Amino acid sequence: MRHAFVTGAAGFIGAACCARLLEAGWRVTGLDAMTDYYDVTLKEARLAPLRAHDRFDFVQDYVETPGRLRGMFAGGRFDLVIHLAAQAGVRYSLENPRAYLDSNVTGTFELLEAAREFPPGHLLLASTSSVYGANDKMPYAETDRADHQMSFYAATKKATEAMAHAYAHLHGLPTTMFRFFTVYGPWGRPDMAPFKFTRAILEGRPIDVYNHGRMRRDFTYIDDLVEGILALADAVPGAAPVAGDSLSPVAPFRVVNIGNASPVELGDFIAAIEAALGRKAERNLMEMQPGDVPATWADTALLQALTGKVPGTPVTEGVARFVAWYREYYGV
Ligand code: NAD
Repeated sequence: MRHAFVTGAAGFIGAACCARLLEAGWRVTGLDAMTDYYDVTLKEARLAPLRAHDRFDFVQDYVETPGRLRGMFAGGRFDLVIHLAAQAGVRYSLENPRAYLDSNVTGTFELLEAAREFPPGHLLLASTSSVYGANDKMPYAETDRADHQMSFYAATKKATEAMAHAYAHLHGLPTTMFRFFTVYGPWGRPDMAPFKFTRAILEGRPIDVYNHGRMRRDFTYIDDLVEGILALADAVPGAAPVAGDSLSPVAPFRVVNIGNASPVELGDFIAAIEAALGRKAERNLMEMQPGDVPATWADTALLQALTGKVPGTPVTEGVARFVAWYREYYGV
């Protein structure tokens, strides 16, 4: 039976990945430190159905604990490794940059060391559209420059891309680096706009709309994202490049965007939440936040070439599903 290791397994994306892998017949070992960056109860609730599964094992620890991952990898148990554990969020990286250094840089180093010694068949790591930073050529293609990060969060993710490339090159580790674009959906993250807006509107509080709503995001629905991850798990770098490939000239390593390829104005996203809730939002128009970028837009040609599919859930549908989950989960 194929065995996958997923870090950040109690996280928004990690829990959804674990559920999908179990459904597809994998054995899954998940690890998560259950950090209190946001409500730990939500993390426990995501884990509960996974824990009930007899092909799922869970370990609570930090990825950066020296030697911890090495011990877990011993014997080369894992066919697939999906590294999602991270300190996420652009805004919090102004407040507590060290959390990003520890989890993202040191944590990824520990993972790469474990993979070097006990190589999995394919190593998948999460990066972010934020690494495109000040690049204003849209849509963002993987082969475009991504050298001018605007937040420390993005800088640590860019560092993990470089570290993983070096390990792929030096140790022949087949590695795919994802750049995710604003993921949303049921079991989502309370620190992200869709969640915060829904909560505020239901509680009758105004919502903070940054850059006066003149922001465009390539919102990606969680199920589409997970399908993309699973499809890319089978696209092991090493074979001949496809058209527009970001494949490294020296290593079995590529970077792939997973986005929706159709950016949505923040105002339209809010309108979709209002429609799903049947309530109007009171808008608190704010300036742009430091570290943020006004737009993200994924070029998904490479994802299409490698997997034959791209995310396509329309925002109205994805938001309706998110709102339905929110109301049921919180009983409001
Ligand atoms: P999340 O915060 O819900 O999940 C991350 C999980 O990692 C959490 O459960 C947390 O407890 C755990 N974690 C944090 N630090 C850890 C550490 N040092 N050791 C072990 N576990 C630790 O976030 P998510 O949205 O599921 O994001 C998953 C990955 O995708 C992250 O790497 C994130 O940077 C990346 N990403 C997410 C988005 C998005 O829109 N959600 C966009 C771009 C990139």
